[in-house]
Amino acid sequence: MTTWTLECSACDPVRTRDADGFPGVCDVCGAPYLVRYDAFPLPEAKAHLRARRWTMWRYDGWLPLAAHEHPVTLGEGGTPLLKVERLATRQGFAQLWIKDESPNPTGSFKARGLAVAVTRAVFAGAKQFVVPTAGNAGVALAAYAARAGVEARVYAPATTPRTILEQIRAFGADLVLLDGHIGDCGIAARLHADNTGAIDVSTLREPYRIEGKKTLGLELAEQFGWELPDAIIYPTGGGTGLIGMWKAFQELRQSGWLRGPLPRMYTVQTSGCAPVVQAFDSGAERCTPWPDPQTVAAGLRVPGPLGDRLMLRALRESGGGAIAVSDDALVGAARELQVAEGIDASPEGGAALAGAVALQRRGALRSEERVVVFNTGAGWLYRT
Ligand SMILES: *Cc1c(COP(=O)(O)O)cnc(C)c1O
Repeated sequence: MTTWTLECSACDPVRTRDADGFPGVCDVCGAPYLVRYDAFPLPEAKAHLRARRWTMWRYDGWLPLAAHEHPVTLGEGGTPLLKVERLATRQGFAQLWIKDESPNPTGSFKARGLAVAVTRAVFAGAKQFVVPTAGNAGVALAAYAARAGVEARVYAPATTPRTILEQIRAFGADLVLLDGHIGDCGIAARLHADNTGAIDVSTLREPYRIEGKKTLGLELAEQFGWELPDAIIYPTGGGTGLIGMWKAFQELRQSGWLRGPLPRMYTVQTSGCAPVVQAFDSGAERCTPWPDPQTVAAGLRVPGPLGDRLMLRALRESGGGAIAVSDDALVGAARELQVAEGIDASPEGGAALAGAVALQRRGALRSEERVVVFNTGAGWLYRT
């Protein structure tokens, strides 16, 4: 059990509110709320972790769970950190790891965020959910809603890979296809939420998916013996993983769990949709919506992310950066992960690897550094 309040990520002076019910965005400025905990486990608790099961709930001291609140779980988290020596040698890295999120329930790291958001909302009495998705968030919501015995409506672009759409239907969600991108689906989802009272679990429109994604950072820290790697390469759409990991690292540092410095965080996007890269390069605090976003990496097709300010802050505070890769490069890199290492990379995971290679060529990553590349989902979901 933990206790916490919610803090607006943009209001100045900082505005807080209590965590009753299931909050959306800040009622004053519309920016995302972040969870602020009253306390964290002491470093002595590291020893107790050893006895816990390898799911993300081993970190429940860092998660928003009230007294008598039980996780809605399918066993998410606890994914492998794989050292890839053959690939590293070929690409000129001394130490390269893939954090492989494909074994998660529903085939992507979206499971982590939706498990926490559905847990919290059901605890607050929710009977119906809605989400706009580029694909995998819809599969995850469909599965966790089924697990909780409640209903889910999913809005997805008609161009979403067919296998992903079949998975959303297979878990019993009510799937609506739209012409357009995830931003258009978001408008439809909010309308549906207003009309029916369904809980909208869109990226950063509620504070709890971030908390689930935070476990990516907690898990990495534990897998590296509480001494974080030098650089983390993350394929970025809405940015929950990036923001969540950065939050995890701050919280771990604040509570004395870490040795050594924090990693540099890098965003990888595609040349057909790179609003975060553009904003990073131009020194902007927010993104300019990307017109006509196009990429085969469906999860990265997010033209106007709500978490732009938080992402850009994490990239800059960490001393990291942002880079765009082509669809050809990401497809090739995903295939390399499959063929050279047996890892079923999604196109987004391929983008992250292609981005790491490009950053190294640019001199942003030094060859002796410890680099972690995220494979955020399973490749089979994109095959038809
Ligand atoms: C959603 C998604 C992403 C992007 O994640 P964000 O946290 O929204 O930046 C990357 N890869 C896959 C496979 C995804 O489903």
